Amino acid sequence: MTEQFKFHMPTQILFGRGLVKHLADYIPGEKVLIVSDPFLYKNGVAQAIGDGMTGKKVAYFSDIEPNPSCESVDAAAAVAREHSADCVVGIGGGSSMDVAKIVSCLVTNPGSIYDYYSGGTKKLCPRTTGLICIPTTAGTGSEVTNVGVFTNRSTHVKLPMVNNEFWPDIAAIDPDLTVTLPPAVTASTGMDAFCHAIEAYWNKESLPLCDMLAMGAMKLILKNVKKAYDNPQDMEARSAMSKASLIAGVAFSQTRTTGIHATSFPLTAEFGASHGIACSITLPAFMRISGELEQEKMQELASYLGYSCLEDFADGVEQLMGSMKMPLRLHELGVKEEDIPHIAEVALSAQIIQLTPAVMNMETVERLLRSIL
Ligand code: NAD
Repeated sequence: MTEQFKFHMPTQILFGRGLVKHLADYIPGEKVLIVSDPFLYKNGVAQAIGDGMTGKKVAYFSDIEPNPSCESVDAAAAVAREHSADCVVGIGGGSSMDVAKIVSCLVTNPGSIYDYYSGGTKKLCPRTTGLICIPTTAGTGSEVTNVGVFTNRSTHVKLPMVNNEFWPDIAAIDPDLTVTLPPAVTASTGMDAFCHAIEAYWNKESLPLCDMLAMGAMKLILKNVKKAYDNPQDMEARSAMSKASLIAGVAFSQTRTTGIHATSFPLTAEFGASHGIACSITLPAFMRISGELEQEKMQELASYLGYSCLEDFADGVEQLMGSMKMPLRLHELGVKEEDIPHIAEVALSAQIIQLTPAVMNMETVERLLRSIL
């Protein structure tokens, strides 16, 4: 049988230290809205990038919270419309970049995000506003995906929204922006990138190009995440982590994610775990069951990364997480035995869970969660 696959990556990628200070030539039109979070506004990073946009009229919306709410999206969209933005630039972690994606669409699409997102009945018309994403964490890869993840504040439900209008026109990755990340955020976002890579690799919809990208990303992360955690100024490690996050992002942008991300949604929305922690806490457990349907492929990966077998590989990743003081057990997030059926039910409601290379049902997901309670 002839192998067939499709690979679609419309985003132009710019990578390099210091490049974000000179983006003016890449920006369409005159009016720019920069979407960022309070930290990046107060420490001057968002403004320094805006100041480099010579000749542009730059406005700022800087109130994006982690795991952004639909209400924040609507508030940012109101500013974008008032400013008649020709281009929206998201600067930050996944939270600010995801908001920039939907805001760039809402400039010309009327109404609230709720009209288009989960249960909304309207369809986004093609965006005419430019979209540039600039990551300041090395984790989500949102700069190269067509996904935005938003939380409904009243129901506490966090859900991804996938739309082809969300592919940024440009992803500008400057590792210098990650140097201020505190060690705990370096660890959690770095392991989020590892989850993207491994979930692309073991995905039931994996493809050869993405396997190669994912393997390379995992190697870079295993070699560099602890170095960046121990020494935040280590620019070689920081650059490697930015590159790995980007590459893992490209990989999972084609395959989507799997059980790890499906389970992360309730752990974040209901137990307050940061995205990177909510994902990586189940990583070793999902690794241990991934041999169920992908024994040979996972063994190849373990060997490529220098481990004798899948069990050693999972132990090694768990030890690495422990060495960065990351939580390894669900009770550390406040999860109790009686919460397990509900977490499993919410996780199973996300279709991506069925892309995991193991049987995923109430019994198996509850068992996995209990194994790390
Ligand atoms: P984040 O954007 O939520 O930021 C977390 C914290 O880190 C914030 O307090 C922020 O101020 C701080 N921070 C960011 N950059 C910093 C820097 N350089 N120095 C110091 N502090 C900094 O974190 P994140 O993990 O990057 O993003 C998580 C969000 O992205 C979640 O909502 C998740 O669901 C989403 N996500 C989206 C995709 C996608 O493809 N769209 C993929 C994965 C995750």
